[in-house]
Amino acid sequence: MAYFRNQIEAMHGYVPGEQPQDRRYVKLNTNENPYPPSERVAEVLRSFDVNRLGRYPDPVANRVRDAAADLHSTDRDHILAGNGSDDILTIALRAFVDQGGTVACLDPTYSLYPILADIQGASVRYAALDDDFQHTPKLFDEVRGASLLFLTRPNAPTGVPMPLGDVRDLCDDFAGIVLIDEAYADFAQDQADELVQEFDNVIISRTLSKSYSLAGIRFGYAYANPTLIAGMMKVKDSYNVSMLTQLIAEAALRDQVHMHANVHRIRTTREATATALRELGFQVFPSETNFLLARPPVTAAHFKAELQQRGVLVRHFSAPRISDYVRITIGTDDEMATLLTATRHILDGD
Ligand code: PMP
Repeated sequence: MAYFRNQIEAMHGYVPGEQPQDRRYVKLNTNENPYPPSERVAEVLRSFDVNRLGRYPDPVANRVRDAAADLHSTDRDHILAGNGSDDILTIALRAFVDQGGTVACLDPTYSLYPILADIQGASVRYAALDDDFQHTPKLFDEVRGASLLFLTRPNAPTGVPMPLGDVRDLCDDFAGIVLIDEAYADFAQDQADELVQEFDNVIISRTLSKSYSLAGIRFGYAYANPTLIAGMMKVKDSYNVSMLTQLIAEAALRDQVHMHANVHRIRTTREATATALRELGFQVFPSETNFLLARPPVTAAHFKAELQQRGVLVRHFSAPRISDYVRITIGTDDEMATLLTATRHILDGD
């Protein structure tokens, strides 16, 4: 159609993992959290006065920014609230990357980045990870010159984090903005918070979709120095975070005990599942997230399809570097038992 910008006409849109409505699956395909959110979230919903919905929400989401700032021992000027962390990624692209500019990211990594770059009319420079999905020293040269580097830590869909010391060296070396996407960092051994204090070009993005069991409300935030936050504020949608989302996110962020207990359960299940899959002949990467990247002893696409027939959804990517693997979200212990039973049947050919 002649109406579209050339860039949009030529691009493919993002393909999210399936959210099937036809039947109940054991849903291990989109890295959601199987446990309920904090009880404080339920309380917010129970006591919410529906008449408030006629008003716009706070455009800058100050109360929830305060809650996020407390987590990082800082103030709200360091926090930008987003409609999911995907919104933060879009805002960063709009703020830091010109049309015709360059974005850098790892390969493989989160498949949304190149799509956002396309929308912005920017090109993408990839830094290839090695066969163990670790970065190589060449990365520093490969990303040089981009205005914005998406550094996913731990990375997705691999689950592997870059060592913090190397991230620090990269932030020091890189002339543009380093956006450290910490969507999964609550499940990891360490986080990169301190780099925001050390460097003026570092932004950290976080989400409530994974560790807080709140993918449905769409809330994420950026943590960075006040100059970067003020600039990003200029390009965000006016009311980018809904009233209910602000209230729920604030309540959830204020209940760290719940989040940490939730994360602890997922990590325990993750390690047990990795061991069980290895015993069944899978190659499983050591993960610091709420998912495992695993190479089945049978074709990955076949394995995924067979699991789906048995009511278990996992994610398979067709991108060449990862097409031999499936990504399995960590569910409850019962859900993982169902996955393992189905897997044994598939491998036994029945
Ligand atoms: N970053 C990464 C690496 C992700 O995997 C995801 C989830 N698909 C996101 C960001 C976006 O999460 P959300 O928009 O739900 O905060």
